[in-house]
Amino acid sequence: MPSSYIGRFAPSPTGPLHAGSLVAALASWLDARANHGRWLVRIEDVDAPRCVPGADRLILQQLADCGLSPDEPPLWQSRRNAQYQQALDGLFERGLAYPCACSRSDIEAGLQRLGRPKSRHGELVYPGTCRERLRGMAARSWRLRTDHQAVDWSDRRLGPQTQNVELDIGDFVLKRADGLFAYQLAVVVDDGAQGITHIVRGEDLADNTARQILLQRRLSLPTPRYLHTPLVPGLNGEKLSKQNGARALDTREPLAVLNAAAAVLGLQVSATRVSDWLAQAVIHWTARWGIGR
Ligand code: GLU
Repeated sequence: MPSSYIGRFAPSPTGPLHAGSLVAALASWLDARANHGRWLVRIEDVDAPRCVPGADRLILQQLADCGLSPDEPPLWQSRRNAQYQQALDGLFERGLAYPCACSRSDIEAGLQRLGRPKSRHGELVYPGTCRERLRGMAARSWRLRTDHQAVDWSDRRLGPQTQNVELDIGDFVLKRADGLFAYQLAVVVDDGAQGITHIVRGEDLADNTARQILLQRRLSLPTPRYLHTPLVPGLNGEKLSKQNGARALDTREPLAVLNAAAAVLGLQVSATRVSDWLAQAVIHWTARWGIGR
């Protein structure tokens, strides 16, 4: 029976694949295969200043070395500004997004006036200062109007989750002061446009999910199923990232890097050819993680 499952791996080309990003790539590929679904790759290069030229090609090559080939040509977010603008315009017309003129110090001052704590995990909770301002002011950024309803969702690994986006984050940025579209908007518009039914990605992104579900609802898009995978610990126990020195993977030895990624996912696979390894890994994946209906 043909499956309606569509999954994706959505790397930001800020550098080559590292041990952590391969875990997300492998897990999303395995889940798609276990569900007889399709697996897409989307290059998330909206944040152009953070992107490294050539990293996109390198990532695609590293994936191919590991036998992870997308079922459709990859999509580059940098070519999709018109779609993001259209989504933002629609939200604005319906009063669900608004221009914001606040600088960081304006936001800090606004929070102080309201007697609210300055930050949550180092991030400022936007107090809604520009919500009711009249049109015609110079917008620095554009924000989504949140509301006081909690967003409840269930992760296939982490279980039930809830977040009150308005209290925890505030009206969040859809288009930045530098004119670039924010990750939250681009990811939701593209998951919707590509018909993504299942999102499998690293646990470091779990905290974005409530915001993305809220945005899906505002844009009348369906909410996919989510599975956030364990992270690869970095040297000092913190999350491994390009910023703390995660090394580019040497995918000329694909079985070595695949075995390391599988171990993080609680899978033990032994095979001497990549294609056999992947076929076995799909069976282990289904036993360990189910198929996520
Ligand atoms: N582009 C994001 C990253 O590399 C991942 C986005 C996602 O999977 O939703 O961190």
